[in-house]
Amino acid sequence: MRVVDIIRKKRDGGELSKAEIEFMVAGYTRDEIPDYQVSSWLMALLVKGMSGAELAALTEAMLNSGEVLDLSEIPGRKVDKHSTGGVGDKTSLVLAPVAAAGGLKVPMISGRGLGHTGGTLDKLESIPGFNVNLSLDEFRSMLHECGCSLIGQTKEIAPADKKLYALRDVTGTVESPNLICASIMSKKLAEGIDALVLDVKTGSGAFMKKEEDAVHLAKLMVETGERMGKRTLALITDMDQPLGNCVGNALEVIECVQVLKGGGPEDLRQLCLELCGWMFYLGERTATVEEGRALATRIIEDGSGLEKFKEIVRLQGGDPAAVDDVSRLPQAQHTMELRSKHTGFVAAIACEQVGTATVVLGGGRERKEDDVDPAVGLVLHKKVGDAVAEGESLATIHYNSDARLDEAIALLEGAYRITNTARYMPQPLVRRVIAGATSAAAAGENSEGTTRAETSWPY
Ligand code: URA
Repeated sequence: MRVVDIIRKKRDGGELSKAEIEFMVAGYTRDEIPDYQVSSWLMALLVKGMSGAELAALTEAMLNSGEVLDLSEIPGRKVDKHSTGGVGDKTSLVLAPVAAAGGLKVPMISGRGLGHTGGTLDKLESIPGFNVNLSLDEFRSMLHECGCSLIGQTKEIAPADKKLYALRDVTGTVESPNLICASIMSKKLAEGIDALVLDVKTGSGAFMKKEEDAVHLAKLMVETGERMGKRTLALITDMDQPLGNCVGNALEVIECVQVLKGGGPEDLRQLCLELCGWMFYLGERTATVEEGRALATRIIEDGSGLEKFKEIVRLQGGDPAAVDDVSRLPQAQHTMELRSKHTGFVAAIACEQVGTATVVLGGGRERKEDDVDPAVGLVLHKKVGDAVAEGESLATIHYNSDARLDEAIALLEGAYRITNTARYMPQPLVRRVIAGATSAAAAGENSEGTTRAETSWPY
């Protein structure tokens, strides 16, 4: 087989065989095929689209490029949740302990912030001492001991994705639903899970801005998961404004602790209960998703979710006292209020700009090697639909340096659209449910199943 022939075949719209795709993935993982040929191949895949068979072959080749965990010796159903990424999207820190306190095993391999979106690992690392770099043996023994562990991708898990993702990031080949699906699902399927709940974000703060694109990606991922024998379901959820009120690593941890203590913003709490309800249902812990939501509510109310979170923090080397006393978390030296220049109602918040403002303050990375400042970020006091008076605070900015403060202020100010003519309501939090064959009945009338076996959609 010759690499150039495979590139040409795809360039001309042909369908690649399983063997050709395996050859490309294995060769690149072993450093036998250079970046320039793989870049060209990825661009052809993005432009020409992929058939269902090609997507399946790519996902499996990436999955099998590393270790596939066998967690069968650990009793209990292993269930994870994965989000496609958003702003203020912090549900994992609530879901993982609540699901584990409810009897599921949660082997969660998470990512860092990407572009304007935040990442679970960066949030967890704002807890003093928290170690996300456990070995796979440590990960296994934590699952045994407390039912949950949250770590970063190790060198053993889907190494092909690690290389391909870094290449896609700099070759304009991230925004392909097929490539995103293979990237996410290869990592998740390597975790040794029985079931997976996907939170596919749509709106101004999501990678998939249009709902139809989010639905398309969700269907690809649900089909892929179910084909690999995992119960898989996706919720299409709103990212037209940040989730909750806090954006920024330590600030988001504080908000999650509030939810685990029974408070916190209503949108964040509701989405956590919804996702957790589905985790309990797919993990066969409850007979219905409604019972799953009720179980999650009880676990928050009786404090066992919060206790489990403290146990996870302690076992991963963090300071559990910082959960009881959040003033032990990193705090920015300065705060300032962004005040409204108008009286009216918040009509929209350009969510990506809010995420970018946080990155500019130092809360995310602009280059791979950048350090993240755990303390900086934003607390939004006004969300879509809220009334606001001139001079009232829209948001508090937490910052450590004023080097790029003006840039962050301009982004945040520009993100708020205030109108005095009409009152706008936020979009529903859960827009659609995309169920696979194993959960279609539970998903009910509002769900949309995945029936297409073949998908070819040049992006
Ligand atoms: N997250 C991933 O892990 N991979 C992608 O391609 C996009 C988002």
